[in-house]
Amino acid sequence: MAVKVRFAPSPTGYLHIGNARTALINWLFAKAQGGAFLLRMDDTDTERSTADYAQGIRDDLAWMGMAWDAEESQAARLDRYAEVGERLAAKGRLYACYETPEELEYKRRRQRAKGLPPVYDREGMTLTPAQKTAYEAEGRRPHWRFVLEHRETSWDDLVRGPQSYHGGHLSDPVVRRADGTWLYMLPSAIDDADMGVTHVLRGEDHVTNTAVQIQMFEAMDAPVPRFGHVPLITGPGGVGLSKREGSQAVRDFRAEGIEPQPLVAMLASLGTAEAADPHATMDALLAAFDIRHFGRSQPQFDPAELAALNARYLHGLDFAAAYAGLVKAGLPQADETFWRAVRANLGRYADACDWWNVIHAPMAPVIEDAEVAAAAAASLPPEPWDETTWSILADAVKAKTGRKGRALFHPLRLALTGRENGPELKVLLPMLGRNRALARLSGETA
Ligand code: GLU
Repeated sequence: MAVKVRFAPSPTGYLHIGNARTALINWLFAKAQGGAFLLRMDDTDTERSTADYAQGIRDDLAWMGMAWDAEESQAARLDRYAEVGERLAAKGRLYACYETPEELEYKRRRQRAKGLPPVYDREGMTLTPAQKTAYEAEGRRPHWRFVLEHRETSWDDLVRGPQSYHGGHLSDPVVRRADGTWLYMLPSAIDDADMGVTHVLRGEDHVTNTAVQIQMFEAMDAPVPRFGHVPLITGPGGVGLSKREGSQAVRDFRAEGIEPQPLVAMLASLGTAEAADPHATMDALLAAFDIRHFGRSQPQFDPAELAALNARYLHGLDFAAAYAGLVKAGLPQADETFWRAVRANLGRYADACDWWNVIHAPMAPVIEDAEVAAAAAASLPPEPWDETTWSILADAVKAKTGRKGRALFHPLRLALTGRENGPELKVLLPMLGRNRALARLSGETA
């Protein structure tokens, strides 16, 4: 049987890091087995879903290298949900209820006061046609619940192992609201059945939904997919991602200069024992992927670790691989010598622009030690310069001033680059050239 998975985001916001990970696990799982990856927009909430968010999700998936084989929209399938809903109602698996939210809340309070779990009492199931007519005459419209059979529902979870829930401990879920709109639960099961989804991989916040949805598949006489639930990621220190300050949206990491490859590598390793390799290609990740590598504890996602991984990715990139990124950062003039000089100092491509400007744009030098600067200005050898020029200059300044170590190098670096740290001076100096070096050592803006 060919594997088919789906990633089912609600386009009510941009793709966040937790959902991007769910998408990636699905994508790797399917593609490692030659299967299909379906993108399904869970857009039944027409108030909060927008075309802009849907496009944002597509853009981010494409940027991360996850192509989808087909796209579906729940908003386009409402007739189908109504049709299946009617069939299930005719079979006695959906029933109409007329309570208001306040009445339901009152029932829950009473149950809790008696020390009982707040499970719905199925009053709707016992209503006579006359009672229903009376409610309708009051202007009430029914909402619909799915009948959960009071028995064990079990499955062998791909991540969590054997799972079992008793239907009697759960309320019959509301599947359709009084205004006719659908809640998530039943449309998702209908789609998975109609679209031939073989494996449902998602966050463990859906574990109890799975017990309900398995009963839905059975009620529809549809094959039950395999399920796997991965622990949700948290922020540093175990704080829930939604409770953390700042955005966790993929598009914001992107805007900050995070590259797709280290991001994908990090997401693929989270929750496994493998360390993220920023240079792992999608093919390498596919070859290494195994759903059994995912453990039961909640992995922590730390944006600082992602930034460090991004830097490591850039540091190890050769010029040919980096050039497109340099062009995007606004440096089509960059050449291999420049890239090799600066890459170890970058956290993101945009940082290369700063170094480009240090080398090629006028800058006011910082003269920390006038004697060292003057000695250097007087000792600059004639051009052409190469990587040996720096040590010739440094030796000359050392001989003239008696400075050595930090007292020698720090003022020279500040005068030549205006920075405390940076690429090796032996590679920077030939790029600066004699005129600019002389002017800066003389205290001139150049
Ligand atoms: N739209 C649902 C969510 O984002 C999909 C859950 C599922 O994968 O079934 O939580």
